[in-house]
Amino acid sequence: MEFLRPTTWAEALAAKADQPEAVPIQGGTDVMVEINFDVHRPVALLDLNQVAELARWEFTGDGYRVGAGVPYVRIIEELGGALPGLAQASRTVGSPQIRNRGTVGGNLGAASPAGDSHPPLLAAGAVVEVESAARGVRMIPAHEFYLGVKRSALEPDELIRAVRLGGASGPQYFSKVGTRNAMVIAVCSFAIALHPEEGRVGTGIGSAAPTPRRALEAEDFLARELDWGARLDPGVLGRFGELCAGAASPIDDVRGTADYRRHAIAVMARRTLTWAWNDYRKARAA
Ligand SMILES: Cc1cc2nc3c(=O)[nH]c(=O)nc-3n(C[C@H](O)[C@H](O)[C@H](O)COP(=O)(O)OP(=O)(O)OC[C@H]3O[C@@H](n4cnc5c(N)ncnc54)[C@H](O)[C@@H]3O)c2cc1C
Repeated sequence: MEFLRPTTWAEALAAKADQPEAVPIQGGTDVMVEINFDVHRPVALLDLNQVAELARWEFTGDGYRVGAGVPYVRIIEELGGALPGLAQASRTVGSPQIRNRGTVGGNLGAASPAGDSHPPLLAAGAVVEVESAARGVRMIPAHEFYLGVKRSALEPDELIRAVRLGGASGPQYFSKVGTRNAMVIAVCSFAIALHPEEGRVGTGIGSAAPTPRRALEAEDFLARELDWGARLDPGVLGRFGELCAGAASPIDDVRGTADYRRHAIAVMARRTLTWAWNDYRKARAA
């Protein structure tokens, strides 16, 4: 197996153009598991760890640009205030060892429907910045990035450079159901982001469909029905839960049944909206 080790982004793009079959490796917490279990035997690995810019994040004036190689532990420690939904999801990933190595870029590269970073990226309206040597940069909205089970819009000659998302303009929450409390793949998960200045609520559903997805009908419903100056109406809350559950298309598998997943999505949708709404009302009253 060839081991390619670019030290700059330009070299990394050139290597991927030259050998599109080379498998990028960042934290290696997905790639190495697959190699160790002989799921794949890549002809070449493209190690991105020497490309320093991938491990940086910056405030761009209108939001945050988080390099594909920033590990979860730094999102939690350095961006917890600005990107609370993504930081909450990062806290639930694996163990400290996995959070030290694993990255959002790798989560996007793997594009598993159960990946924990996807729901908060969807709820926040994140954009994935990808690039190829031949065609330059493409900005792919998160909701267009996921195409199928472990399939994304990334072309074979492209690499993920960063993910861009606005700083939280309102409360954000992430909730995950697992078969135990830690080191667990989500049975299903849900993220919410309040965007009060736009009068809108963003959602993200994980592990309850072939891809992570937004609950679009539920978002439209809240945009119409939420009274941002009032208490949360229980009827609105209940209907929101139903619409979120309806947006899922889960399967029965070893982690849970489709019925259970639909039920849990409704519960998490109601809970996270209640938590976020309470925070929002408290902040307004202060
Ligand atoms: C014990 C254990 C527990 C885990 N628990 C969780 C969990 O709770 N929640 C969760 O979501 N995941 C979990 N995972 C999976 C994994 O840790 C995450 O998916 C993580 O985000 C992968 O990041 P990485 O940097 O290690 O990716 P890597 O393994 O390096 O790469 C993952 C995929 O992304 C591709 N890739 C990486 N970087 C790029 C790039 N810049 N451009 C294009 N493609 C790229 C790779 O080719 C590969 O296909 C767990 C894994 C293990 C081993």
